Amino acid sequence: MAQDCIFCKINQGQVKSDLLHRDDRCFVIRDIAARAPVHLLIIPNQHVTYLTNMSPEQETLVGHLFLVARDMAKREGVASTGYRLVINQGPDGGQEVAHLHLHLLGGRALRAIG
Ligand code: AMP
Repeated sequence: MAQDCIFCKINQGQVKSDLLHRDDRCFVIRDIAARAPVHLLIIPNQHVTYLTNMSPEQETLVGHLFLVARDMAKREGVASTGYRLVINQGPDGGQEVAHLHLHLLGGRALRAIG
């Protein structure tokens, strides 16, 4: 747990959230400022800041986040219509919260990147 991390505080129950899933490695909440009808955040329990800092031992954690995202997409009813998974990294990536997380966006047609 990192002292001033909003996601660690949510994980510890110190800050309220719309919690949709929890397991021994991650939890899932609805984004407070949703940019799509479905906008979830898949967040590791462990305070990992950036993908850059991850070790090879954490490879399965990254895989787990993606499998949970897949299951959540199904639960939220966007698996067949499609969705986008995004990890913002660092300042140029637009990362606001320095605790690794996966955005799941769906429920509307998203503009193609590039
Ligand atoms: P990023 O820019 O990739 O770091 O994304 C951080 C996301 O966390 C943003 O989409 C915020 O809207 C979201 N967020 C920040 N605080 C909260 C909160 N208390 N509950 C839910 N989502 C939050």
